[in-house]
Amino acid sequence: MGSETRQCQNCRYYQRLKQCNSFKLWKRNCQCAGKGSENPVYQNTVAHQHGTGRCPNKFETSYAPERKEIVYCESCYNAEVV
Ligand SMILES: [Zn+2]
Ligand SMILES: [Zn+2]
Repeated sequence: MGSETRQCQNCRYYQRLKQCNSFKLWKRNCQCAGKGSENPVYQNTVAHQHGTGRCPNKFETSYAPERKEIVYCESCYNAEVV
């Protein structure tokens, strides 16, 4: 489990040199809309610390914006999995 987030240690250092193009980080907003994801795919199981409004968090992820997966920030993600 968790292998999706596996990352190449060297990418951090090589990113600027563009020697590791396969691992790109995207700046994205958390897709948590308070009671669930912004699209109606996922319902949150617990209340999050940002309340019932949209989560304001931004973060970097290897999931490209065009991908269909829901991406939550770390705090929302942790709220759901704990
Ligand atoms: Zn969030
Ligand atoms: Zn949230």
